[in-house]
Amino acid sequence: MAYRTSIGIRRLSTRLIRATIFAAAPLAIAFNLQAAPIAKSAGIDEAGMNKSTLPGNDFYEFTNGGWLSKTEIPADRGGWGAGAALGDATNARIIALLESMAKNKRLKTPAEKIAIDFYGAYMDEAGIEARGVAPLKPLLQDIAAIADKHGLARALGASLRADVDPLNATNYFTENLFGLWVAQGFNDPDHYTPYLLQGGLGLPDRAFYLTDSARMNELRSKYLAHIATMLKLAGLDDADARANRIYAMERKLAEAHTSLEDSQDVLKANNLWHRADFSSKAPGMDWSAFFAGAGLAKQDVYIVWHPGALAGAAALVDSVPLADWQDYLVFHTVNHFSRVLPKAFADQRFAFYGTALSGTPQQQPRNKRALAVANAAVGDAVGQIYVARYFPASSKARAQAMVANIVKAFDKRIDKLDWMAPATRQQAKEKLKTLYVGIGYPDRWETYRGLRITRDDAFGNQQRAELFRYQEQIARLGKKVDAREWCMSPQEVNAVNMPMQNALNFPAAILQPPLFDASAPDAANYGAIGSVIGHEISHSFDDQGSQFDSRGRLRDWWTAEDMAHFKTSSAALVAQYNDYKPFSDLAINGQQTLSENLADLAGLAAAFDGYRAASARAGKPSSANYTDDQVFFIAFSQGWRNKSRDAQLRQQILTDGHSPAQYRTLTVRNIDAWYSAFEVKPGQSLYLPPEKRVRVW
Ligand SMILES: [Zn+2]
Repeated sequence: MAYRTSIGIRRLSTRLIRATIFAAAPLAIAFNLQAAPIAKSAGIDEAGMNKSTLPGNDFYEFTNGGWLSKTEIPADRGGWGAGAALGDATNARIIALLESMAKNKRLKTPAEKIAIDFYGAYMDEAGIEARGVAPLKPLLQDIAAIADKHGLARALGASLRADVDPLNATNYFTENLFGLWVAQGFNDPDHYTPYLLQGGLGLPDRAFYLTDSARMNELRSKYLAHIATMLKLAGLDDADARANRIYAMERKLAEAHTSLEDSQDVLKANNLWHRADFSSKAPGMDWSAFFAGAGLAKQDVYIVWHPGALAGAAALVDSVPLADWQDYLVFHTVNHFSRVLPKAFADQRFAFYGTALSGTPQQQPRNKRALAVANAAVGDAVGQIYVARYFPASSKARAQAMVANIVKAFDKRIDKLDWMAPATRQQAKEKLKTLYVGIGYPDRWETYRGLRITRDDAFGNQQRAELFRYQEQIARLGKKVDAREWCMSPQEVNAVNMPMQNALNFPAAILQPPLFDASAPDAANYGAIGSVIGHEISHSFDDQGSQFDSRGRLRDWWTAEDMAHFKTSSAALVAQYNDYKPFSDLAINGQQTLSENLADLAGLAAAFDGYRAASARAGKPSSANYTDDQVFFIAFSQGWRNKSRDAQLRQQILTDGHSPAQYRTLTVRNIDAWYSAFEVKPGQSLYLPPEKRVRVW
């Protein structure tokens, strides 16, 4: 389960996340800033509730109504909530650390130096303005020098970066024509294998090009204007006509793209191509030149995640004139680096991706943007600094104990599943036994040895960091897989299940109040962070997890009957979520969000069992006002408190594998213990008769 966060196009992928817990949102600050009198003894925010609402009529309002009525979405955000505030508070701490360390004269460790210089270069606005478009020039000259389609294929290959991750971070987005992911093989779990994904669009997804609606039409015309503006800023003439041709080409690419729903289906993604297959399966591109440009001339085997999109793109390389391709490459180069170019570029980027796409009126302050870019490029360097200062061993120990209890609860649930065949159950238990749970930070840090980061070159830093990562990734091809490798930074407020590695990451930054508090009672901690832990564990055993065995091989270990039962139960949950309508013209897509909704359900159930097992006081009151069972469910719902701007909410519904936060709290409708805890009765809005409650685990 991935928690959920901010918007921006980089983040967008995070929201597509099926394996992570949230699409990130900033949590902590809301609590801190408003100094809401959090009832520490019970671990919940009583002042943030609306006790005049019946829990059975509107549980979200009952638990969060006070907070909702008091909270304004900050002007530089598309939404705000528990996760967003926590992210924001974490960022503020890191910014203060980086700035004070930069002033300190003492000798720096290599990681400190990289983090401080990367951040500092981005903060040097005067220097960035003074250099103007000079850093872009060599890249634009290379594009202008492309003489023929052979040279074009080579340039497209050279643009390839390790910038997608369809399974762990569920990041499908790259502006380059294709994206590369290096991970263990679907069919060869012991060795690193290259996966090729579709890319090349400037809008978040094919649906933005192809859906016929007033909102999408408006976004498309704004995108067209955005392309033209970027070209003008880069000094090109005839920008409007060029923008039209670029857009027309992207639209054709979008037609060949795979939908988000199909992208999530690993069976459709498992297409093993040998090097020789490319010219017959995706004709039109000089693939030898492409792979030579990419530094992959010697690699024979690939997994092609999106074969249709690869074929469509290769055909366009053949049919579209070279000059149009050159314009296309210019635009995407400028667009991609716009954050590290002068203000006019960065502002234009925000005007489109921030305001038009997400409805965010105001850009984040420079220091927050600097940190976001540093986190994306050199996340482990920043993370080491954060963890050393803010993640005590006691937090790690308590979180580990919670994980152990919830894993045990899950194991017991598997024992009791009457629908699962004994052989399947055995394999599920085996998988639980070999599960790696990473808490706080990775066992081994990325050192960035050989990466040059300087204090006066924000553009070059980003460029070199991306290339460094790419070269590091392709150097691993064919080598033994490290199953304990992390895919998230410790300072990220999120969590993830990595299905092939059979591993979970719970970064240090999510293990903080209000989601996790060493001084709070078990009921609150298990309700808030425990349900997140349960969510991530359950992904190992859901529709996607059932496709990977305990070693991470893509192998269906469920019987046909197991799957049939699971599908029947799933269908009921799909219908339940299809009924939720945030807008009169837009409902939640129960199918698109199914895996995440299932994980929410399984996670909450396992966390409840874990809490009951851990807490000797279970069922007895821990505060004057609420029983521990009540505290468990209130803490769960308060962990998802959130407000979104309409534009962001609409985008999320269309592109995210997670239901919007408010609807995630409705998971309680399927849990019997919630009914008894709050005396929810027939006739109340959220009441489901026992036979309508979905029970999968
Ligand atoms: Zn998830």
